[in-house]
Amino acid sequence: MVKHMKSNRLPISFEFFPTKTEAGHEKLINVARQLAELGPEFFSCTYGAGGSTRDRTLSTVLQLDSEVKIPTAPHLSCVGDSKAELRELLTLYRSKGIRRIVALRGDLPSGMGLSSGELRYANDLVSFIREETGDHFHIEVAAYPETHPQARSFEHDLMNFVRKAKAGADSAITQYFFNTDAYFYFVERVRKAGVEIPIIPGIMPITNYSKLARFSDACGAELPRWLRKQLEAYGDDTASIQAFGEEVMTRLSEQLIEGGAPSLHFYTLNQAEPCLAIWKNLNGI
Ligand code: FAD
Repeated sequence: MVKHMKSNRLPISFEFFPTKTEAGHEKLINVARQLAELGPEFFSCTYGAGGSTRDRTLSTVLQLDSEVKIPTAPHLSCVGDSKAELRELLTLYRSKGIRRIVALRGDLPSGMGLSSGELRYANDLVSFIREETGDHFHIEVAAYPETHPQARSFEHDLMNFVRKAKAGADSAITQYFFNTDAYFYFVERVRKAGVEIPIIPGIMPITNYSKLARFSDACGAELPRWLRKQLEAYGDDTASIQAFGEEVMTRLSEQLIEGGAPSLHFYTLNQAEPCLAIWKNLNGI
């Protein structure tokens, strides 16, 4: 049984992706309005590496920020974008009063080499944003408690994370994970390396087994055997998958909060219900 706890004061944030259609966009704004009721610290909106969603990310961020009235952070990735293109976006966001940004290397669609773009790694982008805009932006970077899938080793990846913090990142959001030990160990090692920035766990609600398995393979998040077996056993029974997923993610969130996580960042996949359900459980509502 999930032990419900009071955590009203825990800061939360929600991530969206820009949609391709007008109908999808309207739905996204509706979802954002529902989640805005929970008083999140910020929203964020993803960016297609190489600029594929440049205009849609921009317009979504500005609408969430000005109409839904939650400070919204654009994600910005450096592979595939020139310095001039990045500078232009930074200037635009700054002129619109945007104060937070999620700075990433990004993943280019297959076929485009990693060398496209003038900045190679996220630490280069963080340095560039600081050079161009000083302290204007609160910069978030990505963290990988289970190690980035292309990293040479855990230690090398940890060193590269430290590099991003030293380049000027203010806080970090993790890739999602289902093993809290990985998160706590990562945080401990970052602290031992002398870096004190908050490391916010990324929470992925479980709603669909095949999509989750595909995502997890691609991004290097481990789907533990017990979880996989249980989800497989539910087959097409979506209601049971969702109820089980809600319980698992509530429990994981509770463990993170009890262990000292500074905040929770939800990967909403543009859906309100799974996040609302976890939030209600956490708050005993
Ligand atoms: P980096 O920190 O640059 O690391 C990438 C790899 O290079 C790692 O293996 C690292 O160990 C290594 N490395 C880093 N720096 C150096 C260096 N100086 N020298 C040698 N090796 C180095 N992707 C998108 O395309 N759009 C998004 O909007 C988006 N949002 C995300 C949000 C979050 C919270 C997270 C966790 C990921 C997101 N991603 C997004 C995915 C991300 O872009 C990919 O995981 C990408 O492969 C790595 O990006 P990064 O910023 O972590 O890269």
